[in-house]
Amino acid sequence: METAEHPTEIAAALLDNYVNGRWVPSAAAEHLDDVDPATGEVLARVPLSTAGDVDAAARAARAAQPGWAATPVAKRARAVFALREALWANREELARLVTQDMGKALDDARGEVGRGIESVEVACGIPTLLKGENLEGIATGMDVEMWRQPVGVVAAITPFNFPAMIPLWFLPYAIACGNTFILKPSERDPRTSERIVQLIDGIDEIPPGVVNLIHGARDAVNGLLDHPEIDAISFVGQASTALYVMERGTKSGKRVQALGGAKNSMVVMDDADLEKAVPAMMQSAFGNAGQRCLAGSVAVIVGDEMRREEVRSVLAEAARNLPTGPGTDESVVCPPMVGADARERVSAAVDRALAAGSEMVVDGRETTNEAGALMGPTILTAGDRESELAREELFGPVLALLEVDDIGEALEFVNGSRYGNASVIFTESGAAVRRYRNEVEAGMIGVNVGVPAPVAWFPFAGWKDSMVGDLHANGTDAIEFYTRKKVLTSRW
Ligand code: NAD
Repeated sequence: METAEHPTEIAAALLDNYVNGRWVPSAAAEHLDDVDPATGEVLARVPLSTAGDVDAAARAARAAQPGWAATPVAKRARAVFALREALWANREELARLVTQDMGKALDDARGEVGRGIESVEVACGIPTLLKGENLEGIATGMDVEMWRQPVGVVAAITPFNFPAMIPLWFLPYAIACGNTFILKPSERDPRTSERIVQLIDGIDEIPPGVVNLIHGARDAVNGLLDHPEIDAISFVGQASTALYVMERGTKSGKRVQALGGAKNSMVVMDDADLEKAVPAMMQSAFGNAGQRCLAGSVAVIVGDEMRREEVRSVLAEAARNLPTGPGTDESVVCPPMVGADARERVSAAVDRALAAGSEMVVDGRETTNEAGALMGPTILTAGDRESELAREELFGPVLALLEVDDIGEALEFVNGSRYGNASVIFTESGAAVRRYRNEVEAGMIGVNVGVPAPVAWFPFAGWKDSMVGDLHANGTDAIEFYTRKKVLTSRW
């Protein structure tokens, strides 16, 4: 029976946008459900905000920008430090939100939140990072100085698979540099971004209008890309969306960095220590259900027939035994995918691979859950080297196996990809590592490491179709992206 105290069903809340320091309803006529992929529960309703909602945020950000840029840099650093403290104090809650919203295993979610906080910590050093350059006596009585100033109003458009970390690749650097900021998180799992912005709302050192949040999808993105008051866009998502964002954003004169999709190979040399390599490969291929831009999705096995057979069978054995289930189970490595639609898409790609000649090694499609989002670790032979399975991003728990004779052939396959986000090699040979490091065409590479994860003090991005634009995320590249350089020549 339904009573006021015990309603039989509580409708999930419709999320508000955050504009000029206030939570405001969107003008959207439509919304999407944010669903827990472990249970199927609707957690929130996400408004598909309009260009009008974006306009309000852009105006607020524009109005706040001169005052924020004029705030002494040491004070801006303290504001970012206050954000670091708030995130740190709430890190477990943020990790649990990530797991609930998109399925990721809790330990993975904790790692993601930790990496996001590291980006905030780097941005706390903004007084040092923002320093310019100068050169006395460039001509007689003449000196030259280079100053860095904020770009203005900047926006970030982020994907579903790292809902805590990726917004934090951008937000802290952008505001530390004196810009004001609009975040458009993924419509699939925006509650972590909402929580981060709630924490910002409680920080007195960050005035209204400096950080704004707009929920939504395509219309909100187009509103941001076309808006004349927005000066720069940071984007992370699929390669096709990255290209679209770059083209449309630059058409209206914006500075754009757009990080795209991936198809990453893991090269297993014939001297690799399999006891170490295989667990790392399991994490890389099946952790976060393969929904990482750094996921290793092709194992390139180097060696003779005996070695190939050995690698194939230890990988299969490990995949069959990999803990699979809800992300809240602390032992799980392969959690549910973000939703039933994603699982169906990946399962259909596996069918196509089988029809194209791949052979099934481990079929994870027998595993599912109530929400229809869980799929177990799946391994297939790659079939043709140019097949969809070998070359296109599936973004699910699927590993393709490819066999080659030597490192030259391995590199030829790896570098034949249109993507260049990541690649890793497992070997005990320094000579193999040296050649691989020198010749491989990817932005993030690993040696005896499954996932060459972002490290906040270094730039992060891929090459080729995995990135359009030039400046990467994080580290000093973030400072380059979020500032304009001004050179003063003076004679006295
Ligand atoms: P996506 O491209 O579908 O969505 C990313 C963002 O773009 C979202 O905010 C979404 O609302 C918006 N968007 C999507 N389609 C749009 C359209 N047609 N017009 C305007 N806006 C649109 O990406 P996703 O599925 O959320 O994320 C997974 C993808 O992101 C994978 O391809 C993965 O490899 C990639 N990724 C890349 C990196 C990297 O660093 N290179 C990091 C994480 C994820």
